[in-house]
Amino acid sequence: MFVFTITILSYLAIYICFTKYPEMKHFDVDLHVHSRFSIGTSPKMDLPRMCETAHLKGIQVLGTGDCLHSAWLEELESSLEKRGDCYEIDGIAFVIQTEIETTVKGRVHHVILFPSFSSAHELREVVLNNGYSQLTGGRPQLRISPEKLTSLVRDVDALAGPSHAFTPWTSMYAAYDSIRECYGENADLVTFLELGLSADTEMASKLAELDSCTFVSFSDAHSAAPDKLGREFTRFCLRRPSFREIGRAFQGINGRGVVLNVGLDPREGKYHLTGCHRCKKAYDLEDITVDGNVLKTCPECGGPLKIGVKDRIRLLALKSGEVPSARRPPYRHTVPLLEILKAMKRSKAMKRSKAMNVKKSYGELIREFHNEINILIDAPLGDVRQQHPELADVLERFRKDAIDFEFVGRGGWYGKIKI
Ligand SMILES: [Zn+2]
Ligand SMILES: [Zn+2]
Repeated sequence: MFVFTITILSYLAIYICFTKYPEMKHFDVDLHVHSRFSIGTSPKMDLPRMCETAHLKGIQVLGTGDCLHSAWLEELESSLEKRGDCYEIDGIAFVIQTEIETTVKGRVHHVILFPSFSSAHELREVVLNNGYSQLTGGRPQLRISPEKLTSLVRDVDALAGPSHAFTPWTSMYAAYDSIRECYGENADLVTFLELGLSADTEMASKLAELDSCTFVSFSDAHSAAPDKLGREFTRFCLRRPSFREIGRAFQGINGRGVVLNVGLDPREGKYHLTGCHRCKKAYDLEDITVDGNVLKTCPECGGPLKIGVKDRIRLLALKSGEVPSARRPPYRHTVPLLEILKAMKRSKAMKRSKAMNVKKSYGELIREFHNEINILIDAPLGDVRQQHPELADVLERFRKDAIDFEFVGRGGWYGKIKI
């Protein structure tokens, strides 16, 4: 019933988008990536490889990543072509983007989107002139509050929203109990929120304070590999793939908006449930709450306990007591096609049949179905089934949201899907 409703809702959104606003088109968008100048990022994270992977995936609009880093900014300016208010190269549209960490209370990450290179240069100058950061890293750390950051961002006509808002480290809800507490007077300027790998729409929409925020799912890719870039993405209804159009989509202006979020099942995340890092035991919050305080160590083994994202959201919703009312587009759970193929290769059923070359199969599937998003999300299952019956069975379970888990993520351990 749930899947049926989701399918009907997504068709309805598409119908309204195209009949009422015939000039609109759908774009699959990933606006949170990092360049090779960020810590822990692949040295091969460059524009040609990003474009190549975007074509494989079926992503039409990418964030540039790290646009406040001088060498990367220079590279972007000399490579991207401007068409009207859009930037593009090799048939992929780009939005000028960076991630910034504020360090006044905890470490909080924010995705920043810019209308133009001059806007990015303006923010660079303000940051450098005031000594907030030397901007030597791809993801700069600024010694200012999130409220101050959003003021600076607004002054250069750019947009800011929390990155991976629910992860237990480096996120808004790790450091603050509400969006108002985080962004203060500027909370109303925050029109989008990145769900991140550890949350989906169903979880996040329990918080009424987010009713006016558009939820986006982006990859936070540190490499251009096809199992990283675009592993989460957002399908927008827009006139053209530009910053202005995306900004209007966050506010749902004249038919623009998000029609679909796609990403990992949060049960895969390392901190979905509350659990122990040492013995991996999962706990109900009630069982480890003593005199109103949650225990910090595991009653079984004494190892460190970490409250899971699911419980964190539940506690915040209880605390606020407000009832959310936003209508949200559907969220589809999936994993990158390469991971599905690797899991199929590992599965006993496949071992008995012919050995499978994952890379070769991936290439063949892309040639046959044009891109990965088409295979995972859009192509009729009957078409996949003709040549690839085992894959169609797996995809069917993903599309019906009927995936089982061997292990649900907790205490810093990734969840494990059963295929
Ligand atoms: Zn981040
Ligand atoms: Zn334990």
